Amino acid sequence: MKSFKTQSKRVLDLMINSIYTHKEIFLRELLSNCSDAIDKLYYKGLKEGLSGLTRSDFQIEIAADKKNRTLTISDNGIGMTAEELEENLGTIAKSGTFDFRNEAKDAKEKDDVNVIGQFGVGFYSAFMVAEKVEVTSKAFGSEEANVWVSSGTEGYEIKPAKRDSNGTTIKLYIKKDTDDEKYENFLEEYEIRSLVKKYSDYIRYPIKMEVTKYKEQSEEDRKEGKPREEYKEAETLNSMTPLWKKNKSEITADEYNKFYKDTFYDYEDPIKVIHTSTEGAVSYKALLFIPSAAPYNYYSKDYEKGLKLYTDGVMIMDRCADLLPDCFSFVKGLVDSELTLNISRETIQHDRQLKLIASNLEKKIKSELLDLQKNDREKYDKFFAAFGLQLKYGLYSGWGMNKELLEDLVMFKSAKEDKYITLKEYVDGMKDDQKFIYYGSAKSESAVKSLPQSEKILDLGYDILCFTDDVDEFAVKMLGKYADKDFKNILDEDLGVSGEDDAKNEEDKDLLTAVKDALDGKVAKVKASTVLKSHPVCLSSEGEISIEMEKVLSKMPNAQEGVKANKVLEINVNHPIYQKLKDVYASDKDKISDYAEVLYGAARLIAGLNIDEPTALTDKIFSLLA
Ligand code: ADP
Repeated sequence: MKSFKTQSKRVLDLMINSIYTHKEIFLRELLSNCSDAIDKLYYKGLKEGLSGLTRSDFQIEIAADKKNRTLTISDNGIGMTAEELEENLGTIAKSGTFDFRNEAKDAKEKDDVNVIGQFGVGFYSAFMVAEKVEVTSKAFGSEEANVWVSSGTEGYEIKPAKRDSNGTTIKLYIKKDTDDEKYENFLEEYEIRSLVKKYSDYIRYPIKMEVTKYKEQSEEDRKEGKPREEYKEAETLNSMTPLWKKNKSEITADEYNKFYKDTFYDYEDPIKVIHTSTEGAVSYKALLFIPSAAPYNYYSKDYEKGLKLYTDGVMIMDRCADLLPDCFSFVKGLVDSELTLNISRETIQHDRQLKLIASNLEKKIKSELLDLQKNDREKYDKFFAAFGLQLKYGLYSGWGMNKELLEDLVMFKSAKEDKYITLKEYVDGMKDDQKFIYYGSAKSESAVKSLPQSEKILDLGYDILCFTDDVDEFAVKMLGKYADKDFKNILDEDLGVSGEDDAKNEEDKDLLTAVKDALDGKVAKVKASTVLKSHPVCLSSEGEISIEMEKVLSKMPNAQEGVKANKVLEINVNHPIYQKLKDVYASDKDKISDYAEVLYGAARLIAGLNIDEPTALTDKIFSLLA
């Protein structure tokens, strides 16, 4: 007997001891494997021009044997060789459906509901209902058949076996009933029928089962109360029409939601369903979903974007990344198109038809999102809370290329209105004399609002966009302008509002120069300011690099020391401190440097910058206080 790999053992253990209430999903998992196996063979047949593989020959069969407590599921798909049985059923972590490495650990400590609900659980889910599983398989084109047998975590065996033709038969020895669980139900005809309808109705191959029927009775027999004669007949349990091939008008919201949750393993209904079809240069049907929340690994490297790709109802790729731009990587769904069949993972990105579909979908997603923004703002806000960051990354990483796609989708918190607004809403609300789209960067909105410069801008009746994510300022730099309006950081030296006291700058030139010299290159300029209302000082910057950008850049792993904002120290001419500085300068020129250091240090703190040598600064403050 062979042992399972450690990962597999853990998952298996989870399945065997599962307290998961939806154990019934094992059937969905096994049937979907059968369907995949048939897809693989059908696709191979088309690609290699093999004869004798007609679509109507394919089928899946279910048989329940109550006496022996077994449930058998067979397909005539591609089958598995002994090596493949070993490889596919001995190792779970290899399966692309989920990554249990992080999750299984937690799950053991908490409960298994999360894990099972959130991911496809695959073949091993059979062990939720069976004490022993036998998989007999014959690979297409091979003469030999083999059987894989396991009764749980101890391990498994693979032995030669008999099977007439290619395909796989899975035999489940159903667990004994317990007080809580009537496993026997899974052998009941009505139960199987309803599970197939519930989870596997759209499988494109017939799922057949011998079902009990009753012969018509003659009037006489009925009167005499004779029992009706039973007979067995094979019946197809599923409707076989994929949801996306049905007419939109025939599909209920519930059906869409259920399909989404079953296919993409989400708990929540999607925020938006996009069902679209196009005929013409390239014909396709697409069924796309926008989830209501970001998956736990969304903003990590582990997350893989992509749409399922079908050609004429047959799935040929589980996650086709080329169909989605990175900025819309949150979209789930599928595309069904009559593509040329010689596409493979390698050639797919060069495929012209696929590129065309991708670009159509991109436009479609954008317009549907805009529609949501316009007509259901609450939902759009929810969407933006989950995926807005990705849109902003998209603006930044596209180096301006995604401007048209994304500029109307991004939102920022408004300092005036205390809610998220679009750039269009900002511009529509601009005052006649307002030249710029103002923004402030800080840790939180309230920090933006309390920046010394905010007071003046808000007093003028101008709104300020609050940038609280690191990427925000970089993203608008890529935008350049919106609706022909430039963006302006409120920490910029030139705010486009009369903010300088030119007369004072001239009159007190010597004082201001002395302050600047005392700061010994730390600032590019010192000026008499009227931007400030109640605060005595602030820092602003001139040039391309803002103070916030300096902060973000210095946090990066490969931080470049040299990238610094050109800082300007602004002193409020209307504050008593200004007069104090003048007095000090007049009476004791040397003392001005202590004042300069303290004011500069305070301005850095206000701007959220750190102080290199806090003790040197506090010592100066204490000596001035003493
Ligand atoms: P997944 O289907 O997500 O890859 P599973 O655990 O359900 O994971 O199955 C593991 C692998 O075993 C499949 O990827 C497939 O290669 C193989 N397999 C399972 N069932 C069948 C089947 N009925 N016919 C052929 N191969 C199968």
